[in-house]
Amino acid sequence: MKALVKISWSKEKPVLKFATPEGYETVKLEKGKEFDYEVTKKRRCIGFHSEKGQMTPCPAFNKIESGDQCFNCRKKDIYTHWRTGNGSPGFEADYSVYLAQCGNQVKVGVTRTDRLRNRWLEQGADYAVELFSKLSPEEALEKEKYLSENGLKERIRKENKIISAEKNILENEMQEHSLEGDIIDLSNSINCNSFLRDGVFPSPIENVKGQIISNGRICLGISSGKVVQKSRQKGLSDF
Ligand SMILES: [Zn+2]
Repeated sequence: MKALVKISWSKEKPVLKFATPEGYETVKLEKGKEFDYEVTKKRRCIGFHSEKGQMTPCPAFNKIESGDQCFNCRKKDIYTHWRTGNGSPGFEADYSVYLAQCGNQVKVGVTRTDRLRNRWLEQGADYAVELFSKLSPEEALEKEKYLSENGLKERIRKENKIISAEKNILENEMQEHSLEGDIIDLSNSINCNSFLRDGVFPSPIENVKGQIISNGRICLGISSGKVVQKSRQKGLSDF
């Protein structure tokens, strides 16, 4: 048994990480690769960030009802205070404030300056711009808060990211808020006519955009913590 963690990007290529009772596993999401998985509605704890860029598995691979961490792992996670807006992650780093257009919506976000491009790829951004760089975490969060209070979103739902992005939406939003920066084009149209959060894994893989996998017909949004099992449908057709 394993649980989904997330898709991260290594040298611009997507890699899917799983939590298992024995630790973590990763699999490259190459085009044409086939999977025999089914994503269930059950959830298990994915562990916690023990230090910068380092995750530690949940000692008991605990069953959970919602989210992706058990109480103890959430408490131990160095990013918990950061995520809830109650403090910095506790290590020195430069932070950037950015805007990302995913589909036809724009959001504001904060990330470590050295992770900026990976963060955009992880979010499935079509266009993105760095607005401010080399900030302390506090300065970056303050700017993000100001922009979100002035009407910029902080989240875009995955099902809105499968829409083909129109150009100029990000530029218009920047003009409206008197913001400057160079827009980076990462546009990637993901081909699908239905969006799922669980069920049969799209296979063979045609495209990956952020946390969404497509086989050209079906898109699956990766939700951290969901349990994956061998596909029962495939099992039956084997007889
Ligand atoms: Zn746990």
